Amino acid sequence: MNGKCAIVTGSTSGIGLGIARAFARQGADVVLNGFGDPTEIHALCNALAAEHGVRVVYSAANMANPDEIEAMVDEAIARFGGVDILVNNAGIQHVAPVDEFPVDKWDSILAINLSSAFHTTRIALPSMKARGWGRIVNIASAHGLVASPYKSAYVAAKHGIVGLTKSVALETARLPITCNAICPGYVLTPLVERQIDDQAKVHGIAREAVIEKVILERQPSKTFVKVDDVAELAVFLCGNAAAGITGTTLSIDGGWVAQ
Ligand code: NAD
Repeated sequence: MNGKCAIVTGSTSGIGLGIARAFARQGADVVLNGFGDPTEIHALCNALAAEHGVRVVYSAANMANPDEIEAMVDEAIARFGGVDILVNNAGIQHVAPVDEFPVDKWDSILAINLSSAFHTTRIALPSMKARGWGRIVNIASAHGLVASPYKSAYVAAKHGIVGLTKSVALETARLPITCNAICPGYVLTPLVERQIDDQAKVHGIAREAVIEKVILERQPSKTFVKVDDVAELAVFLCGNAAAGITGTTLSIDGGWVAQ
C-alpha cells in the first residue's frame, strides 16, 4: 500500500483504529477520523507515522454532517493528491423498542451509520476514477444480513449499507475499483463494552454472564471476533488478490449468520 491514501472513518477507537494501524503497517498514508481527546489523538497520529514511516493526518469531521465530510475528503485530496482507499466504519448504536425509539437517535444512526458512506463515496469516487484504482470497504455487521429486536435503526442502517455496497459495485464494475462490505459479529470494542454495561444493569447480572448469555448468545463460536482479524480482512480486500471481489458481503462472525 506504499504511497496510497486511505481514509478510515471512525478510526480513533475500536475496529476503525485497528484498520488504520493495519494500513499504516502496510505503508499507506492514513486519514484518521473520529472523536476523542485532542491531545491523545495527536499523540496517536505521531506514533503511527513514526512507527511506520507514513503520513497520518487527523480530521475531526462529524460523519453526521455532509459539509464536514466533504471538507475531510477535500483535505485528503489536497494533502495526498487523491483518495485510493475508503473505509466507511464510523458507527453508533442505540437499543430500544421501535415504538419507544427516540426520533433523534434514529436520525443520528441513519446519518452516521449509512448516509455518511453515501457522502464519502460520492465525493471520493471521482478521485479514484481519475487515479484508475480504488477500494471501498464498508463496515456493515451481521445486522446487515439478519435482525435482532430493539435495534431497528442499526439493523435498517446496516441493511442499507449492504444495499449501497452492491449498487456502488455495479456502477464501478468495469473499473479497477471494488466496493465490498465486511459483516462482523461481536467484536470487543468500546461500542460493545457500553452494551455489556447497559445489559448488566437491565438484567441485574454480572458482566461475565452478560457476555455469555446475552451478548454472545447468537454467536456460535462463543468468543469475540478480534479487531486485528477484521483489520486483516480489510487489508486483503484492498490488495490485488481481491481485485475480482466486488459487491459482496464478507462475514466474520463466528458462525452467526449460518444459523
Ligand atoms: P467504537 O465505538 O469503538 O468506535 C466508533 C468510532 O466511530 C470512534 O472512533 C468514534 O469516535 C467514531 N464516531 C462515532 N460517531 C462519529 C461521528 N458522528 N463522526 C465521526 N466519527 C464518529 O465502535 P466499533 O465497535 O469499533 O464499531 C466500528 C464499526 O463497526 C461501526 O460501524 C459498528 O457498527 C461496526 N460493527 C461493530 C461490531 C462490534 O461488535 N464492535 C460488530 C459489527 C459491526
